[in-house]
Amino acid sequence: MDFELADWQRAASDAFADYLAREVAPIVGAHERERRLPPRELVRAMSGYGLLGGLLPEALGGQGLDHVTYGTLLAQLAGTWASLRSMISTSNLVLSIIAERGSAEQRERFLPALIRGDTLAFFGLTEPNVGSDASGVETRAERDLASGGWRLRGRKLYISNGIHADLGVVFARTGSGEDRAVSAFIVERGTAGFSAREVHAMGMHCCPLGELLFDDVLLPAGNLIGVEGQAFAIAKHYLNLGRCFVAYVCAGVAEAAYREACRYAGQRQQFGRPIGQFQLVQQMVADMMTRVETSRLLAARAADALDRKSADAQRWCSMAKRHNSDAVLRVCEDAMQVLGGAGYTSDFPLERHYRDVRHLAIAEGSNQIQALLLAQGELGLSALRG
Ligand SMILES: Cc1cc2nc3c(=O)[nH]c(=O)nc-3n(C[C@H](O)[C@H](O)[C@H](O)COP(=O)(O)OP(=O)(O)OC[C@H]3O[C@@H](n4cnc5c(N)ncnc54)[C@H](O)[C@@H]3O)c2cc1C
Repeated sequence: MDFELADWQRAASDAFADYLAREVAPIVGAHERERRLPPRELVRAMSGYGLLGGLLPEALGGQGLDHVTYGTLLAQLAGTWASLRSMISTSNLVLSIIAERGSAEQRERFLPALIRGDTLAFFGLTEPNVGSDASGVETRAERDLASGGWRLRGRKLYISNGIHADLGVVFARTGSGEDRAVSAFIVERGTAGFSAREVHAMGMHCCPLGELLFDDVLLPAGNLIGVEGQAFAIAKHYLNLGRCFVAYVCAGVAEAAYREACRYAGQRQQFGRPIGQFQLVQQMVADMMTRVETSRLLAARAADALDRKSADAQRWCSMAKRHNSDAVLRVCEDAMQVLGGAGYTSDFPLERHYRDVRHLAIAEGSNQIQALLLAQGELGLSALRG
């Protein structure tokens, strides 16, 4: 059992950390204050480090990275700028779907620009009436007999990259009557009938959420991904992968918050001593340290299970996502306590970390749903269906 990264993984991680400290960290504060999208050149740079398409094989334009390496890089990005991370992860999720489930024509048309970061993508599953029970998608796509394509009608809600991405994957019901079959379609910005508005949120201010409206959008037949009616399995597969990466993201932000708290505890003087000398502060340091480390280990365990294609990979991904998104909240809470009033101000990155991680216990399958899936796996009894 080896708990350390290989030398080449450590070197890749160190090079990325240098880049983030030099080029990204200095501009985060100003962009966050003005709620500006990250510059496109940073998005393109992420491609070079493998964060856009790096998991794909070289034959598809990727770098053949394993999940442990990818997750390690993602954790560093999240600890520096969670909004840029969300933008990149969402686009990477969609480009993986197009690469692995799309047609040769779709790959040729959309993949190179997505991998380079010249275009960005959104993942459209959630709707006003459809959240945790994603199988109940109400957005509908019907065959258009005149064109041979599809007519898309409905709404999507809380969609990352939804108001600025160039294209996205939209999940829509194509079965009729009781048939809840769901299909996936590529929808490009600028298609007639497709509009979006921003939904203001607590955090992630540089990766805004969108509500998307599809008002009788005519899509070419070639925009259907994979087989008609079988896309719910695609959504489930990629959301499960996403949970492993959310676990890494939480570990990365937890580590950033912890480091900031330790730095502050060593410098801030009260009662004639650094506050880090007080036992009650030291207890918070020990709690944070333990949560950072358990989060790192659990994320790596999930990624390793995916790399080995282990039968219990889904269980590790659910467990890591659930544990780490709770743990990072506790770490940010403790770190803010250590910084006192300073932690509550936007002069320090901590209040941003605190706001930016709150959604991770909700999105990509809420932590309650992960608990039900984990218990169902153990007990063979489902709380969700019959
Ligand atoms: C910042 C952010 C980014 C997002 N990005 C995207 C995106 O890019 N694409 C996308 O499609 N979606 C996205 N989402 C949506 C996200 O996936 C949903 O918010 C999530 O699936 C939960 O759905 P909901 O918000 O409708 O909550 P609901 O499903 O209404 O749940 C509300 C509460 O009830 C609990 N609950 C529900 N059912 C049960 C049950 N059976 N047992 C116990 N508790 C239950 C939930 O755990 C939760 O606490 C994003 C959300 C956020 C906040």
